Amino acid sequence: MKKILSLLVLVFICNVSFSQKKQAPLFQHVEPAFWWVGMKNKEIQILFHNKNSNVSQYDVSINYPGVTLKETKKVENPHYLFITLFVSAEAQAGNIPFTFKLGKKSYTYNYELKNKSKDTNRIQGFNSSDVMYLIMPDRFANGNPKNDSIPGMFEGMHREKPYGRHGGDLKGISDHIDYLKDFGVTALWLNPVLENNVKRASYHGYAITDLYKVDARLGTNEEYVSLINKCHQNGLKVIQDMVMNHIGTTYWLNEDLPEKSWIHQFPTYTTSNYRGQAVSDPYRSQSDLDRMSNGWFDTMMADVDQTNPLFATYLIQNSLWWIEYAGIDGIRMDTYPYPDKDFMAQWAKTILDEYPTFNLVGEVWINSVANTAYWQKDMVNKDGYKSYLPSVTDFPLYFALPQSLNEEGGWDSGMARIYNLLGQDFLYPDANSNLIFLDNHDLTRFYLSIGRDVKKLKMALTFLLTTRGVPQLYYGTELLMDGDGGNHSEIRKDFPGGWSGDAINSFSKEGRTPEQNEVYDFMKKLLNWRKDQTVIHSGKLIHYIPEDNVYVYFRTNALKSVMVIINGNKSDKLLKMDRFKENLRNFTKAKDILGTGEHSIDQLMVPAQTALILELN
Ligand code: CA
Repeated sequence: MKKILSLLVLVFICNVSFSQKKQAPLFQHVEPAFWWVGMKNKEIQILFHNKNSNVSQYDVSINYPGVTLKETKKVENPHYLFITLFVSAEAQAGNIPFTFKLGKKSYTYNYELKNKSKDTNRIQGFNSSDVMYLIMPDRFANGNPKNDSIPGMFEGMHREKPYGRHGGDLKGISDHIDYLKDFGVTALWLNPVLENNVKRASYHGYAITDLYKVDARLGTNEEYVSLINKCHQNGLKVIQDMVMNHIGTTYWLNEDLPEKSWIHQFPTYTTSNYRGQAVSDPYRSQSDLDRMSNGWFDTMMADVDQTNPLFATYLIQNSLWWIEYAGIDGIRMDTYPYPDKDFMAQWAKTILDEYPTFNLVGEVWINSVANTAYWQKDMVNKDGYKSYLPSVTDFPLYFALPQSLNEEGGWDSGMARIYNLLGQDFLYPDANSNLIFLDNHDLTRFYLSIGRDVKKLKMALTFLLTTRGVPQLYYGTELLMDGDGGNHSEIRKDFPGGWSGDAINSFSKEGRTPEQNEVYDFMKKLLNWRKDQTVIHSGKLIHYIPEDNVYVYFRTNALKSVMVIINGNKSDKLLKMDRFKENLRNFTKAKDILGTGEHSIDQLMVPAQTALILELN
């Protein structure tokens, strides 16, 4: 009998522990998973979700010094509860015990408050002293073959498929920090690294399915943080690519929407008209604007309604979370004119209020200075729209550049295109904050746009790295990659040598052709020279009307002057210098920083299709 009793007790104990193990967690999602004390913004909205449980039935209370429960919000879908806390300045880091009560049942959930970083140098922002290098993480280097395919995720590695995942990852970038540092860039912009668990073409990263998680095929959140720390130790900043316009359709939140209205719904699939101009157009029809803002970007990208206050807060907090958690320096915001514009203003303002040294650049893909300037911080817009976005992508300059090099010079062609375009800079509140580029992950490789002409490429790079703005380069430019943007796989090719077993390793000199090395060396020299040239970062820009298709400009400050001469002709040109007297001041010698020699200041023979950078002494 004793034996039977003890056996029964044992079975009972086993059962209890078994059932505890088996018991489903009260929540599948708690977001943000943790927060910080010491934030300027004292409120935090926490989302609690379980798709198998009516979470909204619970009565919630907390008991934690310095923290008060400000609001509990239920939505249409009972699987959610949104709780807003007020975290006073007196609150200490620790675990806030949340009590969830339903009838006689009571559960505790410990929510962690960490200390906000006190390192004031941690978040550096970016500016015109930087040169950004854009990397598509799936296509740069495969540092960890173990994460190439993850069980349970839709797409595994298929390197042979142009639109498949190729296995590149954060470890691959981390392994090549020395290459990037030596090359002379100062900031990395990575295409989105967050989870993209969609059925196809997930490699590019723009269909995010979890805003709080790095894609497991690229690495872990912890690996992302260590990559950023390593970058910082090596003098490189990190810009995170974010998307607020849409989420991947397989995002858990989209599959169990808090309210149907969180996503713009249509009876049949409806795309955006992609006409960013409609947002600022004084004559636009409401239907055009609605279609622009509410239409979907792609079938796998559900269009977010940012006018929903709960969703808006969720998105803004997510950006704050990544800044504090990972210590990123800036955000590149995708499709900036597509979301609700007041939301975008609120997003930018909240981030910069919390982190004044941070910086933001918005993708405004419109070929017009006026339509681009509309989105820049401090722009006084006639419709009253107040933007807080410091940096805008300079697409008008991008469009003008290949034309300026491919055409014969004329009144408004050739070099005059650049001159005419920059002359419109009075429209920008701060043109020197514009992100300037020859190409990116969406665009035809610049080298192809100029007919695979190394001379033209060098001229363009010289211009890009000496004019106003924040230059951005795209990986592979140094290797003369030449894909056509009509086919995305052509412009997102693997960096040779990033995969073990690659026949060619272009990370080393021996793995590059003589022509690639010529361009690599040229860029390296220019980039490293630029690093400490405050005259290029912030000096005054003065340019001259191009004569005979030769464009001349100066960057100048109290300490120094740099003269740049771009000869767009297929013949050498003798340049008489008297026209530039006001900027030549009393200088007598000009040091050619790309060549070797010194030039006299009286007159100068400028070789055909060549750009010269002259330091004046
Ligand atoms: Ca991998």
